Amino acid sequence: MKAQTEMNQTSAANESHLWNAMHKYDPEAKAMVADSGKGSWFVDEEGNKYMDGVSGLWCLNVGYGREEIANAAAEQLKKLAYFPLTMNHKPAIQLANKLSELLGGDYQTFFSNSGSEANETAFKIARQYHIQTGNPTKYKFISRYRAYHGSTMGAMGATAQANRRVKYDPGAPGFLHVAPPYSYRSLYAGTPEEKDLAAADELEEKIIWEGEETVAAVIMEPFISGGGVIIPSLKYIERVAEICKKHQVLLIMDEVVAGFGRTGEMFGFKHANGVEPDMVTMAKGLTSGYLPLAATSVRNDIYEAFKQDGKDSHFRHVSTYGGHPAACAVALENIRIIEEEDIVGRVKQLGQTKLSELHDLTDHKNVGEVRQKGFLVGLEMVEDKDTKEPLSEAKVGQIVSQCKQKGLIIGKNGDTVPGGNNIIIIAPPLTSSEEDLDFVIDTVKSVIHSM
Ligand code: PMP
Repeated sequence: MKAQTEMNQTSAANESHLWNAMHKYDPEAKAMVADSGKGSWFVDEEGNKYMDGVSGLWCLNVGYGREEIANAAAEQLKKLAYFPLTMNHKPAIQLANKLSELLGGDYQTFFSNSGSEANETAFKIARQYHIQTGNPTKYKFISRYRAYHGSTMGAMGATAQANRRVKYDPGAPGFLHVAPPYSYRSLYAGTPEEKDLAAADELEEKIIWEGEETVAAVIMEPFISGGGVIIPSLKYIERVAEICKKHQVLLIMDEVVAGFGRTGEMFGFKHANGVEPDMVTMAKGLTSGYLPLAATSVRNDIYEAFKQDGKDSHFRHVSTYGGHPAACAVALENIRIIEEEDIVGRVKQLGQTKLSELHDLTDHKNVGEVRQKGFLVGLEMVEDKDTKEPLSEAKVGQIVSQCKQKGLIIGKNGDTVPGGNNIIIIAPPLTSSEEDLDFVIDTVKSVIHSM
C-alpha cells in the first residue's frame, strides 16, 4: 500500500466531467479511480489496494475478475449481440426457467435492467392483474418506512426515506407507508418478536383503514438493507404474507440485495416458513453486477390473468435492453458458479463461524446493536446506549474513512431519515476467503475501539 500522503493527492478525477452518484461536492476530497479487481479486492489507478467490504453496491456476489463470466459475455456477444424480448432468445428462456426452479414454484419472468425497473414492472403488473381479475379499484401500494426500492418516480414512491425524496417529491401517487419491524427503535412494547408482530398488525390495520378493495400490493425486502440492515423476526415475514393473502393484496418480495445467497439462502424469503411471494424482484446478485440485468418473476397463477385468449389482456410494457442476451448469459454463468461452489452454504457457515465475530462489538459503548444475516451486517452506532441517540453522521463518516485509510471499504446508510444515518454496513463478496473476512473484522474492530 502506498504512503498516506500520496493517497491524499487530489486526482484528476475531481476535475472530470463525471457526475458521481450520491456525491456531496467537496473540493478537498480525494476522488478514487478504480482500475482493476480480483476476488474481494480492487486496485485504484495509483496502485492502492482495497478490500471491498460492501461488494460494490452489494452486488458483486461472486467477487471481481471471474474469467468464466467475462467469457460467457464475450461468447454470447459474438454469437447474437442483441435481440429484443418482443421475440425470444435462448439465454433469456434458459434464465427464466432457471429462476423458476430456484424460486421453487412456477414463476414467469419479465426482464429489465435495474432493480428500480424490476419494481416499476411489478407495480404495473399488480395494477393490471387486479383490473383483469375483477378488482379494478385496487391500485395502492404499501411499503415500510426506511425501505429503499429504487430511484425512479414509482420506485421512489415506495422508497420511504425522507432524505432521498425531499427535493424530488411528489413521486408517483398511490404509495403508502407503515412502520418497519425495527425492534431496536419501536413504539411498541415487548420482546423484539412481539414488537415486529405489532408492526405487522399496523400494516394490516393500514389495509383495513384504506379499504382492502383499494390496496394492490405490499412491497418489502425480507431484510431491509440500505435503510439500515433491519432484520426482523422471521414470524414477521410469515405474518405479512398471511395478511396479504387474507386481504387479496399481492406480496412483492424485493430480493434485489438479498437474492443469490447474500443472507445464507438463495433468496431471503426462503428463511421464513411457507412464504410464497406473488412476485419476486431481482437485480444486483443476479449477474453479480457483471452486466446490468433485473428480473420480475411472477407466480404462474398471477401470470394466467395476462393470457386470456381473445381478450385485450397482454402486458403493455417493453424494455429495449431488458433481458439482453449477454446479460442473461452472464446471469446463467453466475448462477452456475453460485451453485457449483455452494456459495449459499458457505455464506450460511462463515456467517455463523466468522462474520459473527462482529457481535463482540456489542460491548463497545457506541455500538447499540449488531444485526446480521449471513454476509449482511449492520452496526447501529449510538452516542449513548441508554438514550439510543444516534451517533452523529460526522463520527460515523470518520469510522468509514478510517477503514478506507486502512484499505477496507465499508458503507453507511447515508440519506435515510433525518437523524438516522448512523448505521455502518458491511456486506463483503460471498466468495471472500477467511483471511479476507478476518481483515474486515479486525479492521472494523480496531477502528471502532480507537474511537
Ligand atoms: N431495491 C433494493 C432493495 C435496492 O437496494 C436497490 C438498489 N440499491 C434497488 C431496489 C434499486 O436497484 P437499482 O439501483 O438497480 O435501480
